[in-house]
Amino acid sequence: MNSHPILIIGQGLAGTALAWRLWERGVSFTIVDRDEALTSSKAAAGLLTPITGMRLTLTEHYGAWLGEALKFYRQKERVLGLRFVHSRRHVRWFKNDKEPQRWATRMADPRVNAFIRSNDPTFDAEVFSVERGGFEMKHSGYLDTATYLAASRRFFDQLGHVVTTDFDHRELDVNASEVTWRGTTYRVAIFATGWEAARHPWFDWVPFLPVRGTILTARADLHGEHRIMSKGCWVMPREDGTLRIGSTYEVAFDRPNEVDPAKLAELHETLRRFVKVPVEVLDQRAAVRPSIEHQRVLIGRHPGKPAIAFLNGLGSKGTLQSPAVSRLLLSHLLDGASLPPAMDLSGNF
Ligand SMILES: Cc1cc2nc3c(=O)[nH]c(=O)nc-3n(C[C@H](O)[C@H](O)[C@H](O)COP(=O)(O)OP(=O)(O)OC[C@H]3O[C@@H](n4cnc5c(N)ncnc54)[C@H](O)[C@@H]3O)c2cc1C
Repeated sequence: MNSHPILIIGQGLAGTALAWRLWERGVSFTIVDRDEALTSSKAAAGLLTPITGMRLTLTEHYGAWLGEALKFYRQKERVLGLRFVHSRRHVRWFKNDKEPQRWATRMADPRVNAFIRSNDPTFDAEVFSVERGGFEMKHSGYLDTATYLAASRRFFDQLGHVVTTDFDHRELDVNASEVTWRGTTYRVAIFATGWEAARHPWFDWVPFLPVRGTILTARADLHGEHRIMSKGCWVMPREDGTLRIGSTYEVAFDRPNEVDPAKLAELHETLRRFVKVPVEVLDQRAAVRPSIEHQRVLIGRHPGKPAIAFLNGLGSKGTLQSPAVSRLLLSHLLDGASLPPAMDLSGNF
């Protein structure tokens, strides 16, 4: 292990991927996290979906990053002796008259076509209301984020890498080439603190656009349907027999865990128009996605404080993006590799 370690602040999907990447490379690190019961990463459904959004667009880098993410999570499953990444087909049903037209243009693109399993998926009309058809995606699924995060934390804790505390940046002594925190010197401190970075004095210039979301845990008899089904909202059958249903979107810089009643009512109404069988809601929770304008992920060193680094902007795609983005940041910090210009924190402002 390297005697001049790395300090990671935050153990969400970002900080956890960084920790694993350092563990893989044999570089010593400390991860500081306050162990909140509810965070963006703990609330997330963990969906891996190639084609998303109102415009039915293929996520950038999806093919390459999914391959990297699956390899990354499967290897962690082997180390931890658990399963947390699950393959699931995902059916997107058209919710208005514009979507079939848009889809006709999109599916002509061979890059999009590579993720389509069927343009004529089946459904059980006793369970779902479908009016306009849809398409079924392959290479989709979900990460059980809570299991992955908790098991990773236990693993790193047993190795003595975890400090549970509320990190206060005023305790960090920063100079040009290193930082010192609670008596230990680190070559770099990486802030992986999610949406809260928007309020941090060192990062308040980054154009954050945090997006709160409410997600439901529920039960319903879907007549054996195990695919993820979407029509305005998504319904995801989980391994444990429950469903995750989501999600709302509202820009929010505070009250991260407050469920917005109006948005929640909209979600229930969308669900009612999609699922015909009774749905029993077991839990509802809200958290804030760390999004940056133009849905950008930003990584790299702080422009004025080179011993401080940053990984943020995972938005609604932390499951897919964190394995690749953590690798890119650490190659930059440890090997001097260039960052992709579009992701470079100091190059973008
Ligand atoms: C409702 C909802 C549904 C979602 N669904 C999906 C999905 O289906 N697929 C997907 O890929 N993504 C989804 N996401 C988004 C995904 O959760 C995010 O991309 C991801 O969680 C971001 O991870 P992060 O590590 O950057 O941030 P966070 O999860 O916010 O982690 C930051 C960590 O830092 C800690 N921290 C912050 N400040 C301090 C401090 N001062 N001291 C100590 N600790 C600190 C926090 O406690 C937290 O543990 C969803 C998010 C929400 C809210």
